[in-house]
Amino acid sequence: MSEQYSCIGCGVKIQTEDREAIGYAPTSALEKEEIICQRCFRLKHYNEVQDVHLTDDDFLKILNEIGKSDALIVKIVDIFDFNGSWLPGLHRFVGNNKILLVGNKVDLLPKSVKPNKLINWMKQEAKELGLRPEEVFLVSAAKGQFINEVAAAIDEYREGKDVYVVGCTNVGKSTFINRILKEVTGEGDVITTSHFPGTTLDIIEIPLSDGKALVDTPGIINHHQMAHYVDKRDLKIITPKKEIKPKVYQLNEGQTLFFGGLARFDYLTGGRRSFVCHFSNEINIHRTKFEKADELYRNHAGELLTPPRMEDMESFPELVKHEFTIKEGKTDIVFSGLGWITVNEPGAKVAAYVPKGVHALIRKSLI
Ligand code: GDP
Repeated sequence: MSEQYSCIGCGVKIQTEDREAIGYAPTSALEKEEIICQRCFRLKHYNEVQDVHLTDDDFLKILNEIGKSDALIVKIVDIFDFNGSWLPGLHRFVGNNKILLVGNKVDLLPKSVKPNKLINWMKQEAKELGLRPEEVFLVSAAKGQFINEVAAAIDEYREGKDVYVVGCTNVGKSTFINRILKEVTGEGDVITTSHFPGTTLDIIEIPLSDGKALVDTPGIINHHQMAHYVDKRDLKIITPKKEIKPKVYQLNEGQTLFFGGLARFDYLTGGRRSFVCHFSNEINIHRTKFEKADELYRNHAGELLTPPRMEDMESFPELVKHEFTIKEGKTDIVFSGLGWITVNEPGAKVAAYVPKGVHALIRKSLI
């Protein structure tokens, strides 16, 4: 493209090469008098918010923008991948703005999870991570559960101000906004032609009835999310679609579990005990002996231990070992973006293996 075009919807620079990146428009759109990017096009014509990829630098710019504005911030996290989908650093940018914390995908959690307990857990975690939300909610954007409650809270806490919705990719931010749009604006032409002066970030403003806006900020990529290391088809396997069924394993010391070929768990010491695995129902869990585990992985990753697929093994990062001693009762060993194992009693020594770059951690049990 020789000429530089900007989207009349959000002000982003138009590009025609990368469908997934910000500012994409098909070449045919350039012939129009008023050019809008695909993301704004979808919002305008289908009331549908589309996800785009964004660099960390761009995201920092957006956070700065939020810090300077007088607005309510709605932060979305994926409750199935709480730590992996947490946006670190947000609290440093919010200034005096109020925050609502929304845990999405509550439909995935086993029925045994008590919502109030989980909300308290989220409050505690948020505090430890430096964020002090006004209120914490659990919702299912996909199923529409508790959306009305959040919509009401947004209306109450925004006190006539703009609303910024933030979250990293894959938390369900688009699904959430689409739901809220249905609740708040109904059908109609919701796009606004105004954009942030002085920025070329594709922030979308969805007008609210009092002249203020609901602002969709692009999702940031958390590089330690498992999602970035697997094939798109495998993402479907590791992302739970419906309520996860916990699987209980009675393990002796020296036993190993493989989660496909994506992660590994060694039970080192602590006597025979049970481990409750919370993973997508479609992930294969393979039990073996610790002494055989290395060889099994070498010979069968990508085949018996799949995903990843054989053709992806070459580029798949090596599994890195993280050792933990469980010192308190009811602890989760978290394989970021994949799931977690709950241990009920203290005293176990374990090792979690995840692809290099992905996080493994322990936390006070969510359930
Ligand atoms: P974004 O990247 O944050 O905008 O996320 P999307 O809205 O594109 O959603 C990411 C994935 O999560 C998609 O596969 C959605 O179907 C799924 N998803 C979104 N909300 C929910 C939910 O409430 N429950 C479940 N189970 N899946 C959801």
